This record gives sequence, C-alpha cells and structure tokens, in this order.
Amino acid sequence: MPVALAGETISNPSEYISQTLAMAAKDHAAFLNRLDELHKDATLSPAEKWQVKYLDAWEAMFEGDYPSSQQQFLDIIAHSGNSDLAFKSSALLLSNYSINRQYSEAFSLANRLTEQLPDIKDPQVRGQVLANLSQAFNLAGQSDLALKYAQMHIESTPPGENLCKPLTEQVVALSNAGKVSSNSPELKQAIDACIAADLPLNANALWLTKGEHLLKEGKARADLTLIDKIMGSIRESRFHPHIVSSLAQKAQAYEKLGQDEQAKNSALAAVAAGEKDGMSEWLRDAYQVLYNVAKRQGDDPEALKYYEHYVAQDQGYLNDISARTLAFQLAKQQVLAKKLEAEELSKQNSILKLQQQLDAKAVETGRLYIVLLLIGLTGIVLWLLRLKHSQMRFKRMATRDGLTGILNHQHFIDESERQLRQLERKAVHASLLWMDLDHFKQINDTHGHAAGDAVLRHVVRVCNEHLRPGDLFGRLGGEEFGILLLECERDSAIAIADRIRLAVEANPLDHEGMMMTVSASIGVASSCNAGHALQRLCRRADAALYRAKRDGRNRVIADAGEGTSVFA
Ligand code: GH3
Ligand code: MG
Ligand code: MG
Repeated sequence: MPVALAGETISNPSEYISQTLAMAAKDHAAFLNRLDELHKDATLSPAEKWQVKYLDAWEAMFEGDYPSSQQQFLDIIAHSGNSDLAFKSSALLLSNYSINRQYSEAFSLANRLTEQLPDIKDPQVRGQVLANLSQAFNLAGQSDLALKYAQMHIESTPPGENLCKPLTEQVVALSNAGKVSSNSPELKQAIDACIAADLPLNANALWLTKGEHLLKEGKARADLTLIDKIMGSIRESRFHPHIVSSLAQKAQAYEKLGQDEQAKNSALAAVAAGEKDGMSEWLRDAYQVLYNVAKRQGDDPEALKYYEHYVAQDQGYLNDISARTLAFQLAKQQVLAKKLEAEELSKQNSILKLQQQLDAKAVETGRLYIVLLLIGLTGIVLWLLRLKHSQMRFKRMATRDGLTGILNHQHFIDESERQLRQLERKAVHASLLWMDLDHFKQINDTHGHAAGDAVLRHVVRVCNEHLRPGDLFGRLGGEEFGILLLECERDSAIAIADRIRLAVEANPLDHEGMMMTVSASIGVASSCNAGHALQRLCRRADAALYRAKRDGRNRVIADAGEGTSVFA
C-alpha cells in the first residue's frame, strides 16, 4: 500500500485515490486524512484531480452540504471527460437532488440515466446507477419501480460479490410498500450481508429501519435496546442523518413507555442535531414528542411553541402537484423500465455475468470488490427514504410541459437565468437557440390536432439526440422551443442548430401510416456577443428567428451583434 507523508508526493496516486474512496464509508477519519494528503500533492495529473474532486463531492454530500456537492458533481459530469466518473457522479447527483427535494431535476436526470443504462458497461458504475434509480423512485413513493430497479441491481451484481447494497434497496422498497416487519427475512438477509461486508453505516441504516418497525409494532423496549446497541457505531460514524434519526426514534420509544423526561431529552438532542437540515421527518417526529410532553406537563406556551414547529415540519409534505404531469412522468418511467427489462437488461445481464465468470480470476482479489463496497454511500442514503407521504413530494414536477415532457416556459426561463448567472461568474459562454416549426398550422389543418401533437413529441425526441445532458430544452408555447446550450460558443451553437435543423427535416414521422415531414427555423444568440443577460439573448434569438422565417424558413440564422449571419 502506498504511504503518503505530509507534504510529500504520493507514489501511485490512482491506486491511492481508489483506496481512499474505499475507506469513505468504512473509516471516515482515515478517509479525511488521506483526502487531505491528496489535496497537498501538487503532482497529480488532471485526470487524478477529477478523481479527487469526486471524493470532495462525496464528502460534501456526506456532511450534508448538498449545494456544494451538487456543483462539484455537475462540474465532473460536464468537464472531467471520464464517462464512468461522470455516470457515478450523475448517480450520486440523483440522490442529492432527491434528498434536497429538487424533484424536477431528479426526475429528468432519472429518465436520462434510465435511457443511458444500456450504454453503461462497467458493472460497478451500472450498479451504482441502478441503486440511485431505485432510491429516486422510493423517494417518489413508487415502490414498485424502486423494487424493479433494486432487483435489476441484485440481478446484475456479479456472482460472488456482496449484496449488501442491492438487498438494502430491496428492503427500502418493500418497506415503503408496507411489506416489511421487524423480523422480515429480507431485512435480516440485508443486515447479514452488510455486516459480512464490514459496512457499518449500511448496517446501521438497516438496524434503524428495524427499529422503526419495532416502534410501529409497539415494541418500544426492544427498540431502545436496539438503539443502545448501535449508538456507539452511529456516533463513531459521524453520519449526520443517522444521529438525528436515532435520537428521534429514541424519543418516540421513551414516550411510548411513558418516560417523558427521557423522551424530552432525546427529542431536544435530535432537534439540536437536526436543525441545520431544515425540514425532515425526524425533526417532525422530535417536535411531536416535545409537544406531547409539554402538553402533558401542562406547559401551554411551550406546547404551542413546539406545535408550531411540528406543523411547520409537517407542511413539508403538503401536496400541490399537477397530477397530470406526475402521471406523465410515471408513465414514461414505466415504459422505459419495462423496455429495459424486456430487451437490453436481461440480455446484457447475462453477458455481464458470463464475462464476470470468465474474468473472475483476474479480478479475484480486489478492485471490483473494493469499488463495489464503495458505492456504499447510496445504501446509506437510502435510509433517508423513509417516506410516508412520498407521493406528495412532486411539488416541483409542475415544471414540465405535459405534452413533450421537456421544461415548460416558466421553468425554462428560471433555469436558464440560473445557469447563465453561474456561467457568467465563471466567464464561460452559453448560446440560446429559438426554434419555431415551419407551417405547422398546415399539419393540424391537414391531419388533425392529434397528428400535430405526435409531430411535436417526435421533434422533441429528434432534438434531444443532439443535446448534451446539461443543456436546457424548453417548450415556450405552441410549436416554439428554446434551447440553452451551456458552455457553448457561438460557432459551435450554429453548428448544433444546423444539425438539429437537418435532423428535423430528415426524420419524418410515420403517424398511422402517414409520413409527416416538418421543418424548423432557428435563431441563434450567444453570450459571446450578446452578454449573459437572458432577456437580451431572447430578444436577439427571436429577432434572428424572425429573419429566418422571413428569408424562407428551414434555416438557421445567428445574431451577429450589429448585423446577422445567414446559414443553411
Ligand atoms: P410559421 O412557419 O410561420 O411559424 O407557420 P406556422 O404554421 O407555424 O404558424 P404559427 O406559428 O402562427 O402557428 C402555430 C400553430 O401551432 C397554431 C396552432 O394550430 C398550432 N399549435 C399550437 N400549439 C399546439 C399544440 O399543442 N398541439 C398542436 N397539435 N398544435 C398546436
Ligand atoms: Mg410556426
Ligand atoms: Mg409559432
């Protein structure tokens, strides 16, 4: 094992980095020391620096600093040039969005990852993506989909590898579906696997799940015994969500046993530990205990104070979602999941398993096994998913256009503004495409509105093939679309716009035996000469689009500051 001393260079950085990652979930203090060493090493290659950045992002997520972790993952996805690292970052980013209640981002990422799954060949990366998909759907209250992904994960785990993580996902999905009790065999199997893999964090998550079920079954005493047994390990891990949830669980158990003073102390400790998280179910549970105790003790002002906190926490779960959008997203996911299961996955899984068996000798001792353990964080984060009100968590799903599934007008504008602000700070360019389909009215008039709708969905699919994961794609209304190309200078934007235009023209839609051809006109504006203000970019792109229409349609015209340049 390479040894690093302070201030010295590390002899085999790549190996050192993967060993460090291996420690993340197991020995957090050692992980932090090594991360420190890596930061001090001035000789790392750019590729190694990206690997270190992944560790930084992991750590930020572990500590609950979600915004900073998200930023780092996005950076890795966009710039590292390492597709496996980017997929792993996407997988953790998905959890990150879900935990942070950014459901719209989570779902578009989830859908994208489902579509990319067949391209992910590395079994570890694939496992991580499946794990995070399972988690995202647990969070959305879709335990059937979550279970499906968990089982795909179990299926695609190479023979002989530890099943701690996929079995945990299975427990969470079953638990959310109300199909687990404190002595379910699936729960025991998962705990045994995590202990065998020496993954205390994952095991603790499962113990806490068991405790929750003990509480529900009225076995408060058994729950307290269990928590006492794991408290040392939880404190040692310093994993924040476990600390808060174990204290809240303890408070509830004491309350059930009529030990109000102990209940209050544990609840206050949970509040103190959990306050920085903002809203959570554990905080809500803790405040509920505090309210009940204060009420019983006749302390009305205190009771009222806690009741207000409790209600504030509870409102986090109120529902004001567009059911239609929700239905659309779910339908899309169900179709994707089914398709994958039916075609790609089963086929690929068997190939994968075969390869694994053949390769078994070469990989026997370590690399795969270590990396598999490491994906660990997702398993831990799964504990965050104890959702009783989960279907209601789609609050922000109303940010999607119901017909095409891409961003709706308002959300496209909001997101574009946000991205442009960030890019401006980093002095990176972006370009805006404004696209309007040509003579679209004729399609409706000739073939009917349903055919028009099908064409709109088809055009969106065609365009999506030319966009990168981070790009923003919104329906601005009718048959008009906006595309914000991030980190894209004017010339590349013109080239992409023209590829999109050609693709739209060259891909007619076969609608009920009728071939329907459509073309598009696109106006391009770039921050290179219009600056980063969205309003100005929109004005310039719209003016360029107007010229494209006026000059005969089916063309791309780019804003060029004073004049304009014509393309295609
Ligand atoms: P141009 O090339 O000049 O843009 O011609 P156009 O036919 O596209 O003209 P215009 O943009 O004014 O008309 C857009 C038409 O798109 C009007 C409306 O019938 C149709 N449309 C708008 N929203 C929808 C929709 O959600 N579904 C369908 N099927 N049609 C829509
Ligand atoms: Mg039009
Ligand atoms: Mg129009």
